[in-house]
Amino acid sequence: MRVRLFALLLTAALAASGCGVPLRSTPPPVAPVTPAQIQSPTAAGQTPPASVAGPLQAVAPAADRLALLDVGPVREPLLDSDAFLRAASVPARGADGAEERVADLLARMTLEEKVGQMTQITLEVIADKSARPYLVDREALRRAVEEVHVGSVLNVVDEAYTVDEWRAITGVIDSLSRATRLGIPVLYGIDAVHGANYTAGAALMPQNLGLAATFNPALVQAAAAVTARDVRASGIPWNFAPVLDIGRHVAWSRFYETFGEDPHLATVLGVAQVRGLEGTDVSAGTSVAATAKHFLGYSGPRTGRDRSSTFLTERELRDLYLPPYQAAVDAGVHTVMVSSGDVNGVPVHASRALLTDLLRGEMGFEGIAVSDWEDIKKLATLHRVARDERDATRIAVMAGIDMSMVPNDVSFATHLLALVRDGEVPMARIDEAVTRILRVKARLGLLDAPAVRGSDPGAVGGTEARAVALQAARESVTLLRNAGDPPLLPLSPTARVFVTGPAATSMRALNNGWTYTWQGDGRAERFMPEGRTVLDGLRALAADVTYVPGATFDAPLDLAAAAAGARAADVAVVVLGESSYAEVPGSLTDLWLPRAQLDLLDAVAATGTPVVLVLVQGRPRVLGRHADGADAIVMAYNPGNEGGQAIAEVLVGRVNPSGRLPFTYPSGPNMLVPYDRTLSDDVDTSYGFTGFQPLARFGDGLSYTTFATTALSVPREIGIPALPASVSVTVQNTGAAAGHEVVQVYVADAVASVAPPTERLVRFAKVFLAPGERRTLAFALDARALSFVDERGRRLVEPGRFTVRIAGQSAPLDLAGDAPLVLSAP
Ligand code: BGC
Repeated sequence: MRVRLFALLLTAALAASGCGVPLRSTPPPVAPVTPAQIQSPTAAGQTPPASVAGPLQAVAPAADRLALLDVGPVREPLLDSDAFLRAASVPARGADGAEERVADLLARMTLEEKVGQMTQITLEVIADKSARPYLVDREALRRAVEEVHVGSVLNVVDEAYTVDEWRAITGVIDSLSRATRLGIPVLYGIDAVHGANYTAGAALMPQNLGLAATFNPALVQAAAAVTARDVRASGIPWNFAPVLDIGRHVAWSRFYETFGEDPHLATVLGVAQVRGLEGTDVSAGTSVAATAKHFLGYSGPRTGRDRSSTFLTERELRDLYLPPYQAAVDAGVHTVMVSSGDVNGVPVHASRALLTDLLRGEMGFEGIAVSDWEDIKKLATLHRVARDERDATRIAVMAGIDMSMVPNDVSFATHLLALVRDGEVPMARIDEAVTRILRVKARLGLLDAPAVRGSDPGAVGGTEARAVALQAARESVTLLRNAGDPPLLPLSPTARVFVTGPAATSMRALNNGWTYTWQGDGRAERFMPEGRTVLDGLRALAADVTYVPGATFDAPLDLAAAAAGARAADVAVVVLGESSYAEVPGSLTDLWLPRAQLDLLDAVAATGTPVVLVLVQGRPRVLGRHADGADAIVMAYNPGNEGGQAIAEVLVGRVNPSGRLPFTYPSGPNMLVPYDRTLSDDVDTSYGFTGFQPLARFGDGLSYTTFATTALSVPREIGIPALPASVSVTVQNTGAAAGHEVVQVYVADAVASVAPPTERLVRFAKVFLAPGERRTLAFALDARALSFVDERGRRLVEPGRFTVRIAGQSAPLDLAGDAPLVLSAP
C-alpha cells in the first residue's frame, strides 16, 4: 500500500547560526586545464570543438566502474524560444474515426459501464502479492473490469518492473478488459516524470528542474520522446507528465518536479515535453498521451509544505500559473490532472470556476480531467467541503472531474451510480465525461489494438537513450561560482582531488523521488546502476582521487578524517545535498541544509585547501555564510543516473558547463523572493534598493569561456499597432574554449497600472560558439511580451516606457498609443 501519511522523511536541521568561514579569495594554485582542452556539448549545424580528447586522456578510465558514454546527440541550436513555441504548437494526430466510434460506443453503454469508465484504480487493487514481482490477480482483475467496468488503472506496486514484466501486466489487463461486453480496453497511466522511472533499466533523465537549467527545449523534447517510447514499450499509453506548476516556493517538496520559477521558461519547456511525449501521432507505438498537471495553483502553498493551502489573487493565477497550461492545451495535450490543493479556500477538485468555466470555457480544453490521488474522498475527509464521500463525488463530478483516481477501491463508481439514479448528477454530465475518456482511448489507437502495438521493448535503456540522458545531465550542470586567478575549475589533470560529502556516493540524491519507487528509497536501490555516482565519475576521470564520507545527509561521521583528507589534497570536492523524497514526506520545516553537512563544509574549508561545493538537491537548501567557504559552487539538481559522469566531466573540464539557474537561490531562510519581484522587495534596511541579495540569481551560470554581448538594437519608439518590435544583439565567444551561451531577453515596464515586476524573461536562445565566433540574434517582441495581467485578470499592454535588457546591455523602448490594448479578459 502506498502510504500517504507518515513522519517527515527528512530530519529537521538545526538552524545555523550564521558563523561562516571567511572567503578566501586566492586559493593555492592548481594548474587549470587549458581552455583549448575543454569540450562542450555539441549542437547541430555548429562546429564541435576540434578535439574530443579531454585533458585526461592519459588516465585510463576505470571501465569496470563507469561505462563512459562518448557521444552526445546532435541538436538544433535554439535561436528563439518564441519561435520554438509557435512551431511546437501543432497538436499530435490521433487514430482516425475517433468521434464516430465514441458516439457508437456511448449509445450502447449502460449507466454502470459509464461510471466504470470514469473510475481509476491503482494496480495494487488487482495485484497478486503472493510472490515478487507482484503481477496481476486475474480474478480480481476480472471482477474490476467485468463487474465494475473499471476504465483505468495506474501506478506500480511498490517497485519498478522490467519491460517484460510490464508487458505481462498490461497485456493481461488489456486482454481481459477487451473481452468484456463492449470490449473497451483499460487506459493504463503511470508517472514517468524523468524517463521511464518505473521501468528497470530505462534511461533516467534529470528531474524537470535540471532540465529547466538546460534552457534547451529541443533536448527536453528529445528526452520526453525517449520517455514516451520506453513507457509505450511497457504497454502504457498514458503518462502523468509534464508537471506545469510554476516553482514559486523553493521549500516545496515538489520543487524539483517543476521547471523553476519563471512562466516563460516553464511554458516553452512544458510544450517541449508535451510534444516529445505525444509526438506527431499519439497513436504511434512511440507516443503516449501527456498530462498537464496539477491544474491549478498547486505550487504556491503558503507554508511551502505539500498540499497545504494556497492563496492567490486572480492576477497571480493568470499571470504566473496559467500560461504553461494554456500553451499545453494549445499544443493539444490530451489530459489534465487536477491539483490536490485548495486555492483561496476552495479545493480545486470542487471548483467549477477553475475546472469548467476556466479550463473548458475559456481555455478550450477538450480532453480528460482526472482527479489526483484520493482527492475526491478528501473533499470530505480533509478539506471538509463535503459531508461525506457521496457528497464529495457529486461536487467533484459537477465541478468538472471526468475520472476519479479513487484509487484504492471502487467507491466512486458506487456513489456516482446512486447519484445519477437519484437525479443529483445529470446523465448529460456523465456522457460528457465518458465521451472525453473514450475519445482519448480512440485517439491513442486503443480501440483498434493493444498499446504495445508497434512499440520496441528492445530500445529501452539502449545507448542512444542513455546518450540523451547524459547530454541533458551535462547541459543542466550550472556553475554558480568559480573564484581564483586562475579560476579553480576546471580541475588540473594532475591535481590531488579529495572527495567528501553524502551526495558523492548517493544514487538516490542523483535521482530523487519517482525513481523505481515513489520515494526513490527502499527497494529502489536494487534497480540503481552500480558505479555511477559522482565519486565513481571522478575516479574514472581524475588521476588521483581520495575519499572520506564526512557526514550522512543529516548526521556527522568523521569530520576530522575529512579535514585531514582535504589537507593532504590540492582541491576538495564537497558533494552535499538531499537524499530522495516526494510529495508530503518531503515537506520541510527548515530550509537550511542540515547542520551536519554545513559543519562538514566548514571543516573542509577551514583547512585552506580550495573547495568545490557540488550541490545535488531538489531545492535550494540554504547555505547562509557557509557558502563563503566554497571557491567554486556547482549546482547539479537531480541529474539522474548519468549525473555522476556529467558532473565529473564538468569538474575536470571535459564538458564546458552551460546550465543556467532556473530559480532564485536564497541566501537566507527569509530571502524567498523570485527574480521578477516588485521594487518593494528590493527595499533594504536603509530604505535603499539593495535588499534583494540572493546567493544566485535566476538565469545565472558561468562557463569556462567568456562571452561578450554587444550591439543591442531596440527600436526607440513603436506604436502598439506596429508591434512586434524587432530586437537584435550580437554575442561573441571571447575566450579560448568553445561553449554555449544562453541569451536571455528581459523586459521591464517602467510604469504600469499595477506595480510591475522588476523585469521578466520574455525570450531566450541557446547558441554554441567556437572561440572567436560571433552571432547576431533577432527577436520579435510582440504585444504579449510586453503585457501583464491587471487586477481584473485582463492581460493587456499599456503604452509607456519599457527597458529591454540582454546580459549587461539595455535600451529603452517607448510604446506609443492612446489606450491600453487588451489581449484577453476573463
Ligand atoms: C501525485 C500526482 C501523481 C499521482 C499518481 C499523486 O499523489 O500528486 O502527481 O500523478 O499521485 O501517482
